[in-house]
Amino acid sequence: MTQLAQPLQQLPGKQPRVVIIGGGFGGIHAAKSLAHLPVEVTIIDRRNHHTFQPLLYQVALAVLSPADIASPIRSIVRHQKNTQVLMDEVIGIDTLKQSVALKSGAQIPYDYLVVAAGSTHSYFGHEEWSAAAPGLKTVEDATEIRRRVLLAFELAERHMQEHGWHPPLNFVVIGGGPTGVELAGAIRDIAQYYMKHDFRHINPQKAKVLLLDGGERLLAAYPPDLSAKAQKELEALGVEVHLGCHVTGIEPGWVETGGPRPLGKLEAAVILWAAGVQASPLGKMLGGETDKRGCVIVDDQLNPANLANVFVLGDLAHFVQDGKQVPGVAQPAMQMGDHVAKMISADLKGAKRPAFRYFDKGDMATIGRMSAVADVKWPFKAHMGGFPAWFTWLTVHIFFLIGFRNRIAVLFTWVWSYFSFTRSARLITGDQRLPGWQEQVEAGPARPSAAVSAQTGVSGSRAAD
Ligand SMILES: Cc1cc2nc3c(=O)[nH]c(=O)nc-3n(C[C@H](O)[C@H](O)[C@H](O)COP(=O)(O)OP(=O)(O)OC[C@H]3O[C@@H](n4cnc5c(N)ncnc54)[C@H](O)[C@@H]3O)c2cc1C
Repeated sequence: MTQLAQPLQQLPGKQPRVVIIGGGFGGIHAAKSLAHLPVEVTIIDRRNHHTFQPLLYQVALAVLSPADIASPIRSIVRHQKNTQVLMDEVIGIDTLKQSVALKSGAQIPYDYLVVAAGSTHSYFGHEEWSAAAPGLKTVEDATEIRRRVLLAFELAERHMQEHGWHPPLNFVVIGGGPTGVELAGAIRDIAQYYMKHDFRHINPQKAKVLLLDGGERLLAAYPPDLSAKAQKELEALGVEVHLGCHVTGIEPGWVETGGPRPLGKLEAAVILWAAGVQASPLGKMLGGETDKRGCVIVDDQLNPANLANVFVLGDLAHFVQDGKQVPGVAQPAMQMGDHVAKMISADLKGAKRPAFRYFDKGDMATIGRMSAVADVKWPFKAHMGGFPAWFTWLTVHIFFLIGFRNRIAVLFTWVWSYFSFTRSARLITGDQRLPGWQEQVEAGPARPSAAVSAQTGVSGSRAAD
């Protein structure tokens, strides 16, 4: 539903109402940047907390607890007198009436709308894969992945003790972007270093981690030398990297592969999805042009066409600068959020709005204990690997983490975990069944997986480690 840019429809004497959808990086930065403007701000999020997504994989692999990386949105803005928080889900946007519809039934009017609802997993039209192969986006996803990974070791130990064999402890991670690389490295890490003294019947170090990607290199958005470095460091850690390998089917306990270098049908105790993202469906409700992932095409004032009082930020925005699309990572979301106040402030003064420009400081991804790759672009340019990149990653993440308590807690946990070789958040909560495990148990120890073993080196023997 498009509309022409129109003057604010605010009541005389009332302050403009700014409604922000999403308390992620974009939304929180927008709200904070508006703290000292004469506007009424409402943040709406379906969750009561802001999640620091770059550290979610550490919750998934039992390094950190959820509360270390998530903060209640209400407490982040508690000192901002002009800001209120609503925990609710936005289900509709009417740009003509200038209001958003909430799941609870309420309609919230706005003068300015900031849409920072982010993105979610894309299974490329195969939503049925999601139950067998969860992705990582929320705290709930992270605790579910933690449950599955830890449970696989527990079930293997129990089955080994009772029957003298267990289904293969294969962990298949699909997608070789930063999240896939971090998950694969972290699973090898936990198996290699952190659990080796904890079991009596299985050897966790023999768990296999396979990282599958359909492309020709990992971390495709990074410079090629860093992709090569990441692959080398992952392989040194014991991760099997398989490029040119497309996933064609997923069912509990199994991954079917095709592409230029297929691996056949892989047996998997745990399957994790890190292969694709799609934009929040709210983008399409604005009625403007969207790209193939559903991101809203915005101009240099972050407006969709003909909607001067609507700003789209972060992962949901398709913003092109110098001929290239700005990536869906945290820095652009934060910078776009900060820019919202500059534009609204210009409007309130009757001045010309400044154009948004993204300032790229670089990207980084961790590969396990003490290893990372970093494409640093500011304050100097460098391609880093190994320990220096890991130390830079650590410093930057502590710096950007929201909340003083969280920074101290994370720093303390990292130091403790690093020296003690323990993972303090190794809790299995909820259901004690692992999708596909029972079927693999019923198939018995003699079922051949030789076809897979021959190509991948995955342990086909279903016997003792
Ligand atoms: C596992 C993982 C690791 C990552 N690692 C890195 C990294 O190392 N470095 C980096 O720069 N970036 C990383 N990213 C990307 C980065 O986190 C995102 O680019 C960033 O969070 C985008 O910010 P955003 O504000 O657009 O959306 P988000 O931070 O995703 O926030 C969106 C918010 O909107 C809310 N919301 C959505 N729909 C609705 C609705 N209908 N109603 C109400 N609320 C709604 C959500 O609950 C959420 O709070 C990672 C992402 C993931 C998932």
